[in-house]
Amino acid sequence: MAAEGEEGGLSGVNHVILVLSGKGGVGKSTVTTQLALGLVEAGKKVGVLDVDLCGPSIPRMLGLSGADVHQSSSGWIPVFADHDQRLSVMSIAFLLAQEDDAVIWRGPKKNAMIKQFVTDVVWGSLDYLLVDTPPGTSDEHISTLEALRTTNPDGAVLVSTPQAVALSDVRREVTFCRKTKLPILGLVENMSGFVCPHCSVSVAQCADHSICECSVHVLQECSNLFSTGGGESLAQETNIPFLGRVPLDPRLAACLETGLNFSETHRDTSASTALSNLVQSL
Ligand code: ADP
Repeated sequence: MAAEGEEGGLSGVNHVILVLSGKGGVGKSTVTTQLALGLVEAGKKVGVLDVDLCGPSIPRMLGLSGADVHQSSSGWIPVFADHDQRLSVMSIAFLLAQEDDAVIWRGPKKNAMIKQFVTDVVWGSLDYLLVDTPPGTSDEHISTLEALRTTNPDGAVLVSTPQAVALSDVRREVTFCRKTKLPILGLVENMSGFVCPHCSVSVAQCADHSICECSVHVLQECSNLFSTGGGESLAQETNIPFLGRVPLDPRLAACLETGLNFSETHRDTSASTALSNLVQSL
């Protein structure tokens, strides 16, 4: 537990994992929050560092909008998402006067902020620190890696949707990781298939329609909204582990809007199952 008097920085952190995506909107922050919740559920102590300075969405997804970071003599005390202080979060959103304020900073100021998030936050002892990065490969990624270098990060989880246009951006992420010698833990294909809101059987599962007992769903055409399987093929082609598919699930989206804990509220859904498999693979 991070406590007053503890030094700021990452000396008590066992594993550091970066979450990367080639594009915005593919579910990078979603995967980060759900991984964090899954790891907490598995008994781990987890920190989430949101370095998406221009689009911080982790606080909202975890129901922490409007929370404040406290300053202690040792540094910033992160915001805790739960009573037992097993999930701590640091984000630029906690430092803005208004949640919707825009961060219009040049590179050096962003880089200094990222360094401060790593060195001046009292992270305490953690099993995992998950770092949610901005989309693409930018200055911020290089600064984050530089700031984390002494901790020897375990590697990166890449997130993509199945479409070719998102996948071609993932290739750039793969190149970035290889050039910066950041190990790739694997690729998650998000928004892969659709979970029927009426019966919660994903399209991939109900291709033969027989397990779908909801009449509304059976009457509808089963279709993948996007293509599917592209992430898995790309993983094979680039020789990186494929960590699994997370379907589009309207209830997951609703939980993220309101900041509810999806893994506790919907243990039985395909998205929840896919994400807990992911946790086990880390
Ligand atoms: P990114 O971090 O890549 O910009 P987000 O994680 O913010 O993307 O996701 C973008 C939007 O898509 C959010 O509103 C989120 O709730 C929604 N979303 C992401 N993944 C899923 C999913 N598997 N099912 C339903 N909604 C999702």
